[in-house]
Amino acid sequence: MSVLEAKQITKIYGDAKSESSTKALNGIDFRVDEGEFVAIMGPSGSGKSTLVSILSGITEPTTGSIDIGGKRIDQMDRFEMALFRRRSLGFVFQEFNLLDSLTIKENIILPMVLDKKETTKMNAKAAEVMKLFDIENIADKYPYEISGGQQQRAAVCRSLVNDPVMVFADEPTGNLDSKSANAVMNCFKKMNEEKNTTILMVTHDVFAASFCKKVIFIKDGRIYLEVASKGTRKEFFNRILDCQAALGGENNDF
Ligand code: ADP
Repeated sequence: MSVLEAKQITKIYGDAKSESSTKALNGIDFRVDEGEFVAIMGPSGSGKSTLVSILSGITEPTTGSIDIGGKRIDQMDRFEMALFRRRSLGFVFQEFNLLDSLTIKENIILPMVLDKKETTKMNAKAAEVMKLFDIENIADKYPYEISGGQQQRAAVCRSLVNDPVMVFADEPTGNLDSKSANAVMNCFKKMNEEKNTTILMVTHDVFAASFCKKVIFIKDGRIYLEVASKGTRKEFFNRILDCQAALGGENNDF
């Protein structure tokens, strides 16, 4: 069953008639099924950020339709979109985006507070997700008191509290050392395997992508290649590297 279905997405920045306009996406058809864990990779400027920003309702496409969980998000107004994003989608960003004035537990339940959920329900949900990712010991700490890896694990917890239709992650390991990146990617893997959460991640990081079930490469605003995971993670890592080399040649800029 598909969770996300995008058809014929194009994005032109600037006036389409002007020579200075940029065609960032050039007719993308894209589908994510329930329980998938997909990475989008591609050289700088290939359109990754634009694609994810459109699929998650932040940017409007120039043309095309996007359906998430049976809802046409391209037809929503700003208010409906904001509500849909808060209630039905989860987000994890490169910069963690935790509020320094709130404890980790308060940060995690923030999406539920905004939705005025009952306190007992919020506490139960926070306890459940913190246990899943083994961060109960930092519940009462503030973001500046813990490591980047712990902050990102808290952000992964926060993305789950509203039982989202799917989670979007934008370079989630971009600010982390390799040990923390490994811990964070294991959280995503656990969330996908144990909670069947559908995840779409944009990354430059071959190590992070090797945790996914599928990698989609884009180039010049088009889908170029799709590779599914098989064998060990190390083998998948090497296949992703090979695809990157084939895609970008000697001087690829990932
Ligand atoms: P990537 O994430 O793969 O690096 P982007 O989606 O950021 O690619 O960019 C795709 C193309 O669109 C690039 O040529 C970039 O310069 C252009 N672009 C991205 N955002 C804007 C914008 N806000 N205004 C004008 N051009 C943009």
